[in-house]
Amino acid sequence: MPRFRHILDTMPPYKPGKAVVSADGRSYKLSSNESPYDPLPSVVEAVAEGARQINRYPDPGAVKLTEAIAERYDVPFEHIALGAGSVTVAQQLFESVGEPGVEVVYAWRSFEAYPLLADLAGVTSVRVPLAGEDHDLDAMAEAINDRTRMVFVCNPNNPTGTSIRRDALVPFLDRVPENVLVVLDEAYREYVRDEDVPDGLTLYRDRPNVCVLRTFSKAYGLAGLRVGYLIGQEPVAAAIRKTIIPFAVNHLAQIAAVASLKAEDELLERVERVVKERSRVREALIEQGWTVPPTEANFVWLRLGERTLDFAAACAVEGVAVRPFAGEGARVSIGDPEANDAFLAAAKEFRG
Ligand code: PMP
Repeated sequence: MPRFRHILDTMPPYKPGKAVVSADGRSYKLSSNESPYDPLPSVVEAVAEGARQINRYPDPGAVKLTEAIAERYDVPFEHIALGAGSVTVAQQLFESVGEPGVEVVYAWRSFEAYPLLADLAGVTSVRVPLAGEDHDLDAMAEAINDRTRMVFVCNPNNPTGTSIRRDALVPFLDRVPENVLVVLDEAYREYVRDEDVPDGLTLYRDRPNVCVLRTFSKAYGLAGLRVGYLIGQEPVAAAIRKTIIPFAVNHLAQIAAVASLKAEDELLERVERVVKERSRVREALIEQGWTVPPTEANFVWLRLGERTLDFAAACAVEGVAVRPFAGEGARVSIGDPEANDAFLAAAKEFRG
């Protein structure tokens, strides 16, 4: 028998959201926080054109895309590091700090990939329970010790949708020692409308130990192509560039991301529609009697405890796929109005 690392025996598998179909053939996938819209024709055309060069390796430095991001956010080229989805950038971060004995602090529950990546990198996860549905930043600061090399702060948090405001985040950053890297995971930043939730890009400039993770998977609708990136000061970005698997960001992904930045106005208009639907869905749920934490992301969170799997099954009967976390709750993405209506009907039925 081939032998593998012991950690693989106990590592929780990542469970991706799956589509479900109702008996009468309806299917609404609200389980992966994707964009509900078809790709833009201009992006599809750029990808089709790019397909003519797929016999060649992609640009390993993804120069055009890096330049486009630098221009878009007015950040130096050297502050950007790309990856095959922001989860891969997160993996590179874990591997860049990872050594036996090293600890990484993050809130729990948060993005399911963090414990997996910690295990893979051979570092110790220090999970700090949420206070209610929010990050407990005091407890997170207290969890930092000499072994800590990195802290993940997911803002807004997946799966609760809750976000951290400037008046809480800045004092927290000030408490973190300079040799501990703080990663602000802002996968859902484009959906934030609360002006008191700070943009991480305004925070990293004068903090060498702070960096920001962003993705083209959600607001930009490129989940299927896998492009994400980090913005941080030069030594942080350089570490991530060093740890990338050669050619990880493929040619079509680079082209689609550049085309998406060109078509950003159209994409952000779609984001605006999702934000409006988010308010409608949350208000309707509250009207039905649910408790729904305020969300700045493209999903809502229902804390269902022991009823979570029953709720997911009841939604599935209506063709609505949600993301259940057994014993805790369900995360439901905001889709198009028809999908949202199907979900609201299932939620109403479940409450009885
Ligand atoms: N961070 C958070 C908080 C997420 O929710 C996700 C996707 N579920 C990611 C990172 C990774 O996204 P991607 O790899 O598609 O960029």
